[in-house]
Amino acid sequence: MILTVMRRGNSFILILIFTLFPMGINCGQSQEIQPREKIISRFASRVPKEWAEGVRGVKTRLDTNQKVLALTFDACGSPRKLGYDAKLIQYLESEEISATLFVSGRWIDANPEIFKKLSKNPLFEIENHGLNHQPCSAIGRSVYGIEGTKSVGEIYDEIELNALKILNLTGRKPKYYRPAAAYYDEICVEIANALGYEVVNFSVLGDAGVTYTKRRVKEALSKAPPSSIILLHMNHPESETAEGVIETIPELKKRGFRFVKLSEYDLR
Ligand SMILES: [Zn+2]
Repeated sequence: MILTVMRRGNSFILILIFTLFPMGINCGQSQEIQPREKIISRFASRVPKEWAEGVRGVKTRLDTNQKVLALTFDACGSPRKLGYDAKLIQYLESEEISATLFVSGRWIDANPEIFKKLSKNPLFEIENHGLNHQPCSAIGRSVYGIEGTKSVGEIYDEIELNALKILNLTGRKPKYYRPAAAYYDEICVEIANALGYEVVNFSVLGDAGVTYTKRRVKEALSKAPPSSIILLHMNHPESETAEGVIETIPELKKRGFRFVKLSEYDLR
């Protein structure tokens, strides 16, 4: 929403302009794009101290006491892992289960038609998993053998260029950012915040980087307390993630859980 004050004669007129984007109303989110040079000059001299999943400022829970769970599915971007778990997504669609999809730029490039279709489904919200699927480091740290970004400029490109890619394709700028491997330093988190994004990790590992068997996925989901943000993957159709999710959701529903998108609640 844009608030404008106009002076007409001796009286002031307040004009409220609601900015509607094709995918809906963009509430409370800055659409302003920060110049790359401005971010570099603000952060380039900083030296990161942290390198972890649980960095200061990262959100891991929904801020509510309600019996809700947020399923979040990453669509990662390493060259051999750009698949699409159609069985999983079709199940969510058929059962009308809401979810948040963190999508990398590489995955979008490999699956343009599927991406377009997902972005049009109001059950899902499309969020930012980085342009090149890199862990988010100001100094080139790596994790699990995945090379991280090497500078503030590369952090900017990783976050903002994927956000703009998503904006161009869907008409909606993402609100949340989660890097590859859910790994950050605190400079990355501050840069993402400065660009207008909340940085999101998880409180429950749903498939542990797609290493879990169906039984372990079921165990992880069954034990999730209310307000959990659960991290799963949608780019590994060969995995047992879908089966684990499909077999657990009916039981969770019976226990009174609802499934929500991140944007339905404040995060903490
Ligand atoms: Zn990933």
